Amino acid sequence: MKPPLMLQTAPLPTSQPPALAPLPPTTSSTSRPVATSITVAPGDGIGPEITEATLRVLRAAGATFDVEQVSLGKAVYAQGISSGVPAEAWESLRRTGVLLKGPITTPQGGGYKSVNVTLRKSLGLFANVRPCVSYPPYVETRHPAFDLIVVRENEEDVYGGIEHRQTNQVTQCLKLITRPGSERLIRYAFELARREGRQRVTCMTKDNILKHTDGLFHQVFEEVARDYPDLVADHMIVDIGAARVAAQPGSFDVIVTPNLYGDIISDIAAEVAGSVGMAPSSNMGLTCAMFEAVHGSAPDIAGRGIANPSGLLLAGVQLLEHIGQGEVAHRIREAWLTTIERGLHTADVFTPGRSAQLLSTQEFADAVIANLGERPERLVSTRRAPLEPMDLSRLERPRPPATKTLHGVDVFLDWTGAPEQLGARLARAGTPLLPLQMITNRGVQVWPQGRPETLCVDHWRCRFLAPEGGEVDHALILQLLQRVLDLGYDFIKTEHLCAFDGTRGFSMGQGQ
Ligand code: NAD
Repeated sequence: MKPPLMLQTAPLPTSQPPALAPLPPTTSSTSRPVATSITVAPGDGIGPEITEATLRVLRAAGATFDVEQVSLGKAVYAQGISSGVPAEAWESLRRTGVLLKGPITTPQGGGYKSVNVTLRKSLGLFANVRPCVSYPPYVETRHPAFDLIVVRENEEDVYGGIEHRQTNQVTQCLKLITRPGSERLIRYAFELARREGRQRVTCMTKDNILKHTDGLFHQVFEEVARDYPDLVADHMIVDIGAARVAAQPGSFDVIVTPNLYGDIISDIAAEVAGSVGMAPSSNMGLTCAMFEAVHGSAPDIAGRGIANPSGLLLAGVQLLEHIGQGEVAHRIREAWLTTIERGLHTADVFTPGRSAQLLSTQEFADAVIANLGERPERLVSTRRAPLEPMDLSRLERPRPPATKTLHGVDVFLDWTGAPEQLGARLARAGTPLLPLQMITNRGVQVWPQGRPETLCVDHWRCRFLAPEGGEVDHALILQLLQRVLDLGYDFIKTEHLCAFDGTRGFSMGQGQ
């Protein structure tokens, strides 16, 4: 007898968000300021040092909020909470709706979940906004001045984490792109562009290959763009787009893109700007928002007092705008630019030999505080005035559902052998109403008319499709599956072949 399947040998307790009533929206164009309390998690590594520096500057500038401090990350994992988020942190977040978060160390090895991914997904933080700005000649970069914003979808795509090992040789990951998820993110990007006085929104996808998933994202982009005729909207294939961000970052304004591409593009943009220590990031949801630095917990310099607090400080500036304290945010941004311009730098951006002064983390915070009320002479922020909070209630647009019709099924088999042998035998499972149309291996058609050069693994997609656009029903598909089983095949998954308002909702086989 086989031993029982062990899915997890030593389950760790997890802390899930308690099922409480949803929060009221934290951002509205009409009522502000709305948050008088914020949740603060100093995080791990350099987190506590840069959080202290950030809060000191925010307070000195006149920001008004109460802090609910919570613990996230390493200390929480050590208590055996595998999510890294304790119950009291969820409760605080539900009260305040706003989180200023220091970086978190994600332990290596199985069993632990990333705090960042857990927070983004549990709190519905659908938009990850990463401004990437260079500050030449004060911070070294190979590029002329640039100032772009990456708006990254934050919940979908392959980050759904829906992965399976299906056969001996094959693993798969589901890439999910949804219309509502894409639409609110893309609308958010256009609203942000308009609010910040930007000119252009560039969508990046790989829809020349991923015609349905990335194709949907691109299609929604084109639809939404029509509502913003005052902005230039264009699209680039992500591979050349990412290369262009690395080579000519100044040619971009706002970039909107699905999750995985956004992750990569925003790191490229932050890197070419000069230092990863200077880039802020906000994670926006309809009822909650999280503000953090782009960088991690930097264990190599933790506790030495030399970390650059700028990434988290600029995230704090975004937080103040979000809670309706735009005037204070503006003062801090101007003071920070003045500090950078006067050559008062932390070690990561300090260049010896220049008329610059090397400062510790807290000395840098002191310098920004001393410069409050000053305006930079040469560095220009594209943001010339305090900003209002953004109205997120306008992002959702209802749409009538499409009419869905069922036309066939893709049956995936775990099987080893030659495609001609499989095709000849499996065709017997088909019927005139639902015949075997083709078999692919790794997406390439191998029956009928395969090519001997095609590498075949033990994972076959067998398409049964009604002829001439005919419809089938679930009963017919169940009968088909029974016949596949009777022929001795191990079917591992099925995908229905549907049309929506008469438009095919599935890809063709490569070579078909
Ligand atoms: P990292 O960003 O922590 O460090 C990369 C390099 O940049 C290091 O040399 C570090 O010293 C330097 N650096 C980073 N921030 C700096 C700052 N503010 N000032 C000066 N120098 C700075 O990346 P890593 O080493 O790959 O990751 C360390 C840990 O952080 C890992 O556990 C990772 O999972 C975690 N991480 C967390 C977040 C987050 O919480 N949002 C993001 C990325 C990585």
